[in-house]
Amino acid sequence: MQNTSRISRKVCLIAGAGHSGSTLLGFILGSHSQGFYCGEAAKTRYLQDDSKKLIKRVCKLCGEDCRIWGDFHVSENLDLYEQVALKVNKPLIIDSSKNVDWIKQQVQSIEATSTQSYLIFLGRDGRAVINSRIRKYPKKNVKDLIADWSEQIQLTSALFDAFPHKKLKISYEELATRAEAIAHQICDFLEIDYEPEMLNYGAHEHHVLGGNNGTQFLVAQAQSEKLKNPFVQIPERSKSFYQNLGSSISLDLRWKQELDPAVANLFEEMAGRINQELKWEV
Ligand SMILES: [Zn+2]
Repeated sequence: MQNTSRISRKVCLIAGAGHSGSTLLGFILGSHSQGFYCGEAAKTRYLQDDSKKLIKRVCKLCGEDCRIWGDFHVSENLDLYEQVALKVNKPLIIDSSKNVDWIKQQVQSIEATSTQSYLIFLGRDGRAVINSRIRKYPKKNVKDLIADWSEQIQLTSALFDAFPHKKLKISYEELATRAEAIAHQICDFLEIDYEPEMLNYGAHEHHVLGGNNGTQFLVAQAQSEKLKNPFVQIPERSKSFYQNLGSSISLDLRWKQELDPAVANLFEEMAGRINQELKWEV
């Protein structure tokens, strides 16, 4: 059924593996005057579910007292993105959930409406992703982390190849080093005008579910005047890294110093072939 009275005209779905920069990309797109970045909209399933940890079901910037998510109730009578669009009154909704099944379900849910789906596959050198996951989950088995990454990339590639609507591949490393050019490219893809303010994402209001603490911490810091008591916190060991960054966009290459050579070899063995297209060499 076509419904031209809908508020949501476009939904941008960010796919890829976790720890690949999707929170950064979401903030950039959500700083466009037409856009609202949900964070991981899949977390709306956990709103009001007290059995889930608070971090999975509140705005990572505001906490429970959020003007968007605080009293948001998912209704079964309307697709999720239109519900969000009605709340925020923006025509472009951005979702960085990344889970392939979730993306398929959501695309299906708007298939019969006038809202268009756009898929962005955000890639990042798998060695950087693994390093970041080891830092976050030091007790997990490294083989499992590599296998999970590899599976997610293969599932995402299959989703991307079969996706019947507009789609675009970009790399985190390109985004972080050529932010303006890549933002232009993404705006062309989304059929919106480029706005320089997008790159100044720390200065804009955001309300996000799920996503990367470090990047959110940067936004919270940039907004410390308004956001006195942000929900998101990061471990002491990461604070100096993020505090030195400010909310500028810069390439995170910590893996080059941090990744254990034995892990790098294991990664090459298990996932080198899949990483071929994503490899970033400078
Ligand atoms: Zn909020």
